[in-house]
Amino acid sequence: MSGFADTRARFHLPEGVIYLDGNSLGPLPRAATERMARVMQDEWGEMLITGWNKAGWMAQPGRIGDRIGRLIGAEPGHVMVGDTLSVKVYQALAAALELRPDRRVILSDSGNFPSDLYMAEGLIRTLGQGYELRVVAPEKVAEALSEEVAVLMLTEVDYRTARQHDMAALTAQAQELGALTVWDLAHSAGAVEVDLAGAGADFAVGCTYKYLNGGPGAPAFIYVAPEHAAKASPALSGWLGHEAPFDFDPTYRPAPDIARMRVGTPPVLGMAALEAALDVWDMVDMREVAAASRKLSTAFIEGVEAACPALRLASPRRATERGSHVSFHFAHGYAAMQACIAEGVIGDFRAPDIMRFGITPLYLDEDDIERAVEIIARVVNDRLWDRPDYATRAAVT
Ligand SMILES: *Cc1c(COP(=O)(O)O)cnc(C)c1O
Repeated sequence: MSGFADTRARFHLPEGVIYLDGNSLGPLPRAATERMARVMQDEWGEMLITGWNKAGWMAQPGRIGDRIGRLIGAEPGHVMVGDTLSVKVYQALAAALELRPDRRVILSDSGNFPSDLYMAEGLIRTLGQGYELRVVAPEKVAEALSEEVAVLMLTEVDYRTARQHDMAALTAQAQELGALTVWDLAHSAGAVEVDLAGAGADFAVGCTYKYLNGGPGAPAFIYVAPEHAAKASPALSGWLGHEAPFDFDPTYRPAPDIARMRVGTPPVLGMAALEAALDVWDMVDMREVAAASRKLSTAFIEGVEAACPALRLASPRRATERGSHVSFHFAHGYAAMQACIAEGVIGDFRAPDIMRFGITPLYLDEDDIERAVEIIARVVNDRLWDRPDYATRAAVT
């Protein structure tokens, strides 16, 4: 996997750490530090407010959107960056529902991330028109689709198990029944090959701080398919989504294109770090990243299963049915993960009993996987986790 030596050199990773948590927060791209300093000094510092024009701050959300679009198979001009993923879920869902005014069911699954479901609940309450959020098991989604469904809202790769939905097949089935789709790519973008245009997805959303390595709190993105771009009505009708923000028109008129999914002032400093991260993504082909991930994940699963019989695989065994993280059930998972972190292997824990490990070929190779397996085996088999201080849960797990 020497093909990724170049990308690996672009990241700062602390000495002695094997980082298997790039699925939650990607590591620091080395160039981001300098890039942010430059934006602060040369742009914010020297240009002051003229930076919106001179440094191109205003156009940046769409420019970065297109760079992300390349990684997820989106048509140019159909991805916009801004806000947080939860906000983008709300926006996409609201717009999709409005395009299916005669239907009242939002279909999702129990593998969806809670915030997506919470945002749907909040939107339903606000709309007050008798909408229903119907949540079924991930493997029951296809049979739960019906002509009642207005919107199928799914996270493509399950945040706990890494089970991956068949985006193309479910989108086709949903559309055949007259429903629209909202795909959350939080665990897909930069993790697996995504082909939004090929799948005919209607809306998609995602974050940039996980696999894309944009930094803590980096802005989210939203995709609106070309056929809906001029019709999708923005529920969060902020001034920067207006057709002419600087007309200061007292009435809202949406921009004719994806710009209507903008809300307010973009996070310029956060976007500077994200741009540095995307420079690394420009060096690779998503097909190669996904293939390398499958190879490393398979080696990881085989290694852990051979060395730690107490851990039970929670992810699909077939590499083509899962995303780029691998999860195991272990009753003492929380404490075991604390012990792993103390031993230099950083992953995370997801209630009730999941130890989750992100596999990210941009900066991990076979040696890392092999060493991680040895450490995890020592933690589990020698009960290194069995200490009172590892049993107390921190605020963030
Ligand atoms: C990480 C994640 C989120 C987090 O949303 P934020 O608004 O960025 O905090 C939402 N949905 C899914 C599916 C996620 O994996």
